[in-house]
Amino acid sequence: MYSHVIAECLDCGHQGTYSPKDSICPSCGGGWREARYDYKSIGKKFLKELHARPFNIWRYYDALPIQDPHPVISMGEGGTPLLKAATLGTLLGIPNLYIKDERQNPTGSFKDRQASITVTSLKEAGITETILASTGNVAISYSAYTARAGIKLWAFLNSLVPSEKMREVAIYGTQVIKVTASYDQTKKLAAEFAEQRPQGSYLDRGVRSIPALEAMKTIAFEISEQLTSALAAEPNDSTAPWRVPDWYIQAVSGGLGPVGVIKGFNELIEMGLTDRLPAAASIQTEGCAPMVHAWKDGKAVADPITSPRTHIATLATGDPGHTYTILRERMLKGGGGTFESVTDDEAFRAIHVLAKMEGLSMEPASAVAFAGLIKMVRSGQIKRDEVVVVNMTGHTMPVEKIILGEGKVQDVEIPENLPEEKPEEGLLSALSRITPKRYSSVAIVDDHPHARRLIRRILQSQGEYTIFEAENGREAVELAQKEELDVMVLDLMMPEMDGFSVLDALKANEKTASIAVIVVTAKTLTTDEKARLRGRIHTLMMKGEFLDDELVDEIDTLLKNGSN
Ligand SMILES: *Cc1c(COP(=O)(O)O)cnc(C)c1O
Ligand SMILES: [Zn+2]
Repeated sequence: MYSHVIAECLDCGHQGTYSPKDSICPSCGGGWREARYDYKSIGKKFLKELHARPFNIWRYYDALPIQDPHPVISMGEGGTPLLKAATLGTLLGIPNLYIKDERQNPTGSFKDRQASITVTSLKEAGITETILASTGNVAISYSAYTARAGIKLWAFLNSLVPSEKMREVAIYGTQVIKVTASYDQTKKLAAEFAEQRPQGSYLDRGVRSIPALEAMKTIAFEISEQLTSALAAEPNDSTAPWRVPDWYIQAVSGGLGPVGVIKGFNELIEMGLTDRLPAAASIQTEGCAPMVHAWKDGKAVADPITSPRTHIATLATGDPGHTYTILRERMLKGGGGTFESVTDDEAFRAIHVLAKMEGLSMEPASAVAFAGLIKMVRSGQIKRDEVVVVNMTGHTMPVEKIILGEGKVQDVEIPENLPEEKPEEGLLSALSRITPKRYSSVAIVDDHPHARRLIRRILQSQGEYTIFEAENGREAVELAQKEELDVMVLDLMMPEMDGFSVLDALKANEKTASIAVIVVTAKTLTTDEKARLRGRIHTLMMKGEFLDDELVDEIDTLLKNGSN
């Protein structure tokens, strides 16, 4: 049946046959087993056959615990894009930044991988009822897949889960049980409920279930395949056929994601497709960071957080149990990495940064990973030349109030008695009230198109400015002559005429001498260079060391004070 899968017990090492129905080791009674395969032959097969298979999760069927490589319940899960984040990468000063866009799964989160492989196995095993506890997204995802497979689902959700998500679970016909207690207590209740159900019902065991872990490892396979094409032109000191990032970063609750992804990268080595492991960074919210506390204290076992303090319900697993111990052990033995925590507010801010800089809108849980990325770049843990992949784990609509408040949407009121003849005049005057006439003028001077686009995006998304661009010093000086500029954002290192000479030219001319100048540079300045800038510019900002709203704050302060 599942002859290509061996189930190995993590406690006693016993190797036996696999079936989705039995989760317990027949030798020691242990509850944690993992799948093993004939990696050498799968590696050869992947190299020969993968290119002809569709780019979705099922292309890796030789290394998945399923019988039918074309399951009927599939909805296009996996095969999500790996997006280069050029603007954010420029903002942070890390050019090789990639986003694995897991929002593009059928229900909008990476849980669809877990649901598709698990529900397929349940269907293959003839199971007709499933019970699970969830912080939201697992329930949404399983609801969709069980609906498609004709399996009844009971979902236990704790009361922190936003009501939008509860309704989304219910729309699929799932029985929703809202539990006013912590997520860990909710899990216990679901397990007790499952005990009382008739034979043939299945309790989802999360990370301790073979299909769930096997599903998550496909993220590693995809990242590796996609990076191999994305980095084809970049220097490579390895002779292995596939490439691996230096960092894999993910927001973490129970830890299924990173444990699965690390298993995936380890398997790629056994298959002979890669030859090293990425470092893993697992990011938690400060109000619920049991893994981060244990890691910083050097402990192999995490102390549970009994009452999580965070608005981000998706990440509110207070007791990671044995998962943390396994994750830590595998990081220490393998590619290393770290655990970091960020505040809810830092995550909310990251939502704005990603939406405005990259056009990618995500839910708060996802954003925790990006807040962690920003923190790690700023602290120097992530180096400039490293290849970084961040998992954008999920997208929820609508944007919750806590992220955006009410002030961001402008109302247009159309006068009630529109003149009969020309209704559009009434509309136009209503619209003109939204957009004031004269914006402050800002010139962006930089020879790198990425850098210009970054600053333009920052200005466009945060306020009302008339924006000009110049791609070298000579153009900048001409522009300043021609237009009424209020502020110039100036790069120093440019061919032909550098930023210092632009300053000299501006100051030498009456019309342009009073333009406020903000220097944004990647260059570490010498004492002599600093002296040349002193008294002539308003602010010096280092590339990679400021976020979008910090630059806008500088500009607005200049404009308010009236330049010079
Ligand atoms: C489940 C979830 C996480 C946390 O993932 P784990 O690997 O289970 O810790 C992060 N982000 C989103 C959107 C999730 O749904
Ligand atoms: Zn055992």
